[in-house]
Amino acid sequence: MNILVLNCGSSSLKFQIIETDLDLIEKNADVQKAKGLVERIGSQSLVTLQAAGKAPLKQAAGLRDHRAALDYVVRWIISPEAMVPGVRSLADIHAVGHRVVHGAEKFTKSVVIDEAVIRGIEDCIDLAPLHNPANLKGITSAHELLGPGVPQVAVFDTSFHSTMPETAYLYAIPYQLYRRHKIRRYGFHGTSHRYVAYRYRQLAGKEFEDTNLITLHLGNGCSACAIKKGASVDTSMGLTPLEGLVMGTRGGDMDPAVLEYLWHKEAMTMAEIDAMLNKQSGLLGLSGLTNDMRELLDEEREHKDRRATLAIEIFCQRIRKYIGAYLAEMGGADAIVFTGGIGENSAPIRQRVCTGLEWLGIEVDAEINAKLVGKEGEITQSGSRVRTFVIPTNEELLIARDTVRCVRNVPRRW
Ligand code: ADP
Repeated sequence: MNILVLNCGSSSLKFQIIETDLDLIEKNADVQKAKGLVERIGSQSLVTLQAAGKAPLKQAAGLRDHRAALDYVVRWIISPEAMVPGVRSLADIHAVGHRVVHGAEKFTKSVVIDEAVIRGIEDCIDLAPLHNPANLKGITSAHELLGPGVPQVAVFDTSFHSTMPETAYLYAIPYQLYRRHKIRRYGFHGTSHRYVAYRYRQLAGKEFEDTNLITLHLGNGCSACAIKKGASVDTSMGLTPLEGLVMGTRGGDMDPAVLEYLWHKEAMTMAEIDAMLNKQSGLLGLSGLTNDMRELLDEEREHKDRRATLAIEIFCQRIRKYIGAYLAEMGGADAIVFTGGIGENSAPIRQRVCTGLEWLGIEVDAEINAKLVGKEGEITQSGSRVRTFVIPTNEELLIARDTVRCVRNVPRRW
């Protein structure tokens, strides 16, 4: 089946065409046929389109909303110019898989989208006011453009973490607030943590029940996940993606009293505080320079910038803190997995995170680590008790596979 995978943000749309099916999943032989991105939807949009094995095409277009953006993308996909193998008309797009950010407690698995699922995603809007409405726009646009005969599947960022026990997901605030408003930790990046756990199983030759590891998704957003017997038992993001690790522009864990203090001292509104916490904090806030880890590492190397170093050190220290906490919580783990733009590509950050953790049995081979950039592999020193892996994430592939499994009604976990 040719699956159109869609990831709609508030002003962006990312897509891939992936051919997959039950036999291809079994053989790990799925084929990525095209991918692309529309940015700045609503004004002069920037469109990047790329058929597999070809150079990317960059175009400008006036695309007023997500429907117009998807229409543009789909026209290109089926055009002779794109030459996407096996995709000549709308009828060659067999199903659509959507990344949906928040499924709250309603959605613990990927599901075929119907009216009730749409209402369920709408019910979660309060918890993800920027993301879920954009995801819904993607769903309605695909329905209008491809017709009701093309099945659509929702794959939630939260559902992998639905196995967390109460002890991990409850905040220690009055219990009735959980009952009344479902205020609790949900966690995000679930598709990424789940994908790298699956690849780890393949690389390490482990069964589901023997999958005990800590996965570190380090991109613009960052989160850690404790996986025991194949299931998420704790993760660093909470009710929203603000909690946990230091990220590009989010600060992660902090004393909630800071908010009231800021409100007094800086006369900031809640909207301003929210924007500050989401967009001006983290690596950007600490360094005063950038949210891009590459640039921070360059600044540190070339100009010995003190605040660049500080931002990098705090970023790594917070990760170490979570590794220690999760090892204690899980009673040990067999492996650590690095993924996301930073985790996959930055050997210096991986090295800095793991330095000092040798006593826990986490020993990285500096030479192997330095050479492993953007590809899958193990960076463990021989004799290390805990193995360390780099595994590039592939959320789109998992969304395509879940779409096939849902459409074919094959039972699956999450
Ligand atoms: P997103 O979370 O938006 O999907 P990515 O997973 O692509 O983001 O990660 C983006 C981050 O990865 C940026 O901070 C970027 O600086 C960082 N990154 C990418 N390549 C490197 C590299 N070689 N060294 C350090 N950081 C890198």
